[in-house]
Amino acid sequence: MADRFRMIINGASVEARSGATFEVRNPAQTDEVVGIVPKGDADDARDAIVAAAEALRTSWWPRLHESRRRGRILQRYAALVEEHKDRLGRLLTREQGKIYKESTGELDSLINTFEYYAGYAGKISGEVKYVRDGDAVIKVETRKQPVGLCATILPFNFPVSLYAWKVAPALIAGNAVLIKPASTTPLTDIALTQLLQEAGVPPGIASIVTGPAGAVGDEILRHPAVKRIAFTGSTDVGRMVTQAASPALKHVTLELGGSDPTIVADDADLDLAAETIVRYGRFRNAGQSCTSVKRVFVFASIYERFVEMMAQKARALQVGDGLKPETDMGPLNNEGQRSDIERLLADALQRRATVVTGGQRLSEGAYAKGYFFPPTIVVDVPDDAALWQEECFGPVLPVMPVRDLEEGLERANSTVFGLGSGLWSSSDRTIERFIEGIESGIVWINYKPLSVPETPFGGVKDSGTGRELGAEGLAEYLETKSIRKYVGKAD
Ligand code: NAD
Repeated sequence: MADRFRMIINGASVEARSGATFEVRNPAQTDEVVGIVPKGDADDARDAIVAAAEALRTSWWPRLHESRRRGRILQRYAALVEEHKDRLGRLLTREQGKIYKESTGELDSLINTFEYYAGYAGKISGEVKYVRDGDAVIKVETRKQPVGLCATILPFNFPVSLYAWKVAPALIAGNAVLIKPASTTPLTDIALTQLLQEAGVPPGIASIVTGPAGAVGDEILRHPAVKRIAFTGSTDVGRMVTQAASPALKHVTLELGGSDPTIVADDADLDLAAETIVRYGRFRNAGQSCTSVKRVFVFASIYERFVEMMAQKARALQVGDGLKPETDMGPLNNEGQRSDIERLLADALQRRATVVTGGQRLSEGAYAKGYFFPPTIVVDVPDDAALWQEECFGPVLPVMPVRDLEEGLERANSTVFGLGSGLWSSSDRTIERFIEGIESGIVWINYKPLSVPETPFGGVKDSGTGRELGAEGLAEYLETKSIRKYVGKAD
């Protein structure tokens, strides 16, 4: 029997007003229903919005002098998630598909992020200055206040860490949050929101509404009581979100798609580069990461050797059910993702690209009931193939030789995206030139695409606007009130 999950509105676990539900299935074993979830609609979203507005008006939560009290709750929450990590990790693997180790890694990232923002307790402050205006002395003050009700719209690929990136800074700043998870991955997000209530967040301050984007998402985007939208998802939907939210002039941050390039220079530690690109760059989470390594440009002198090194490591990855300890890479999250990468691959092959390893969906035996696709490396992909221009959100990696860093940079910068980028080189000069010339919001040098709460995350070009994490991520959830107060006459 599949578990029943409920939305959380005004601190209570509730069904949809309509009574409708939908199923969440295991992408490794699609005949397994992992959970049954309320199919909420605009009425349910409105209930959550009204409850949040009331909680912000009547509870202690948004008061400026209660920031340490909020910090204690965030700390308690981090400890609660730690206690439930195994259960939540298994649930995440069963609904999302990623391997258990990556699921608990996401939960660690959530814990780190809540602890990091809990550290801002008692430290959110404005400035006081005194100025003279003719004969008058004026006290000028800035006060950092919560924005109000902030909506969080999440994608399916990192339902836990991206939850933390938005919810933790919003809560420490004294806001209320309304969470809309992706329809294929709502279960862990519901469990996480339940734990927020247990940690002591007042009723109404943290709600989660599940259901179709059209009904729930639309109400969230249009309702005037929702002051801020933090959206992570595809670039196309991000554009729609901006348009829908603009009549009410909401703050919007967009973390959108990417097609991150990595350049491998001939003076790099090649074995480490190949291992990192394969294991943590392209094939982590079955390639479904916004900051996956999606294009690799290798200096021509080492190209063939490096392609073979990556191919060997990719062939060694075990594909399977993410709950099995021997599995290195799970299934894709849904059939739409799998058919989309097949479309990109077919387009490249039609233009005479060559598959080095992988290339065809896995559908026999243990793979028959899941959305499996093997780690795939392709070469000789011509410039006009869609694989170089569109975001490929799955385990397919095109590799191309480049003469030198300048050609690598030119090719790396040739898409509409600008999220992350990577370089492998031991030359400081090459590294500095890369950092200067690359068009991306985030840069990794001789390291895997890691995100940590201490430093901002976000893209340029069509990869988004605004930043999450770090002090900049907190600033997105605060309004500045600027006060001028007459003190008296100057001496
Ligand atoms: P998606 O854009 O299809 O959906 C994201 C969320 O938006 C889901 O919750 C969905 O239900 C909701 N949504 C869809 N239409 C909506 C509408 N009209 N109104 C309101 N909400 C709506 O993205 P996805 O397929 O779930 O995730 C994959 C994408 O996310 C990739 O492009 C990936 O690069 C991107 N992503 C970006 C980052 C980043 O930080 N830049 C991080 C992770 C994922």
